[in-house]
Amino acid sequence: MHSMAAAARALPILTFDDAALCPSFGYVFDTHWLGPYESIVSILWKFARMNALPGHVLVGHLCAQPVDPYEGICASPAGVETRRVAGILGVPMKVVRCALGSTSGRRPLDSHLRHCPRCMSRGYHSIVHQFLGAMHCPAHGDWLEQGCDACGHAAEYRLDAQLLDAPFKCPRCRRPYGRSTINLWTSSPLPKRMRTAMTRAYFSY
Ligand SMILES: [Zn+2]
Ligand SMILES: [Zn+2]
Repeated sequence: MHSMAAAARALPILTFDDAALCPSFGYVFDTHWLGPYESIVSILWKFARMNALPGHVLVGHLCAQPVDPYEGICASPAGVETRRVAGILGVPMKVVRCALGSTSGRRPLDSHLRHCPRCMSRGYHSIVHQFLGAMHCPAHGDWLEQGCDACGHAAEYRLDAQLLDAPFKCPRCRRPYGRSTINLWTSSPLPKRMRTAMTRAYFSY
């Protein structure tokens, strides 16, 4: 059972103790919900939604040091503890490493969220969209956008409570970044051709 809709129906009501966030606590996550080279922001949006976790609680568990959740942490290996986050999500460390950037370390990330509206409509944001200087979505060919169509706010690409509380939406006005209605639980995976394009783009940087 890999559909998010099915898992959502099966999800018990969680009584949340934020001191006890650990894999054995029974969080729900499935790597089949992930697209190729999905960004850490996109992964955590899904994780938070699926488990009804507020952003300010989630931020506090991404690294061992105490953090101000509204200040947040860098969405990079410098901010996020890869092993810890892989453990919470129940995914291989490689998935988290790729979600944090180019594993070659050669490709810097933009400091503000960049997105492809058509990918956002599917509930997907890739780390490739975030590579500094990337102009087009490898899957769709569309120009990447920065900032919200509705209010103009350019969200920082940073793991803070505001951004994590607004899945696939502008954290200021809450308007979705995608142009069509998003249903995270039923959206189908990217077609193979697009997955290949995304993978090729990741490795070409
Ligand atoms: Zn796209
Ligand atoms: Zn906005």
